[in-house]
Amino acid sequence: MGKSKAAPKPKIYCANPDCKKTIAKSNETMCWLCRRQVYRLSLRIKCSNYFDDKCQNCGFMRETIEDLNKFDFHHKNMQDKEFTISDSIIRNNWDEIRAELDKCTMLCKFCHADKHAIIRNPFIKDNAIILAQEGQ
Ligand SMILES: [Zn+2]
Ligand SMILES: [Zn+2]
Ligand SMILES: [Zn+2]
Repeated sequence: MGKSKAAPKPKIYCANPDCKKTIAKSNETMCWLCRRQVYRLSLRIKCSNYFDDKCQNCGFMRETIEDLNKFDFHHKNMQDKEFTISDSIIRNNWDEIRAELDKCTMLCKFCHADKHAIIRNPFIKDNAIILAQEGQ
C-alpha cells in the first residue's frame, strides 16, 4: 500500500456572508478580519455614545450607524493630543480611548471644518477680503 493521505480537514468559513475567508479554529464563528472590524465599529459606537450621539456645537444628532461618518473628534487643546481617536481605535483599549475622549469634543463635519477654517483667522480673513475687492 502506498502512503495513506490524511482526509482533508473540512473548511470552515467566516459567518459573514460577504466574507470568503476560512477560519483556522473551529471554536470561532468569524475570521480575524471580521472580528477586528466588529470590534473597531463597536468602539466607534461607544465613542459616539460618550457624547450623547450628537454634535457638541450645533446639536446635530446621529440617527444611524452609517451616520458615524458624519462626525469627527476634535481635540479642544492640541497640546493635550496624544493620539487621534480614529488611530486609537486600531490599537488602544476602551480606558485609553476614554481618557483621550475627555480631551475632545464630538463635532459634525460642518462644525469641525468650521473650527479649523482659515476664516477663523482675522488677519487672513481681512487681507483676503481686501484682495478680493481689488479684483485682480
Ligand atoms: Zn470574515
Ligand atoms: Zn455641528
Ligand atoms: Zn479638530
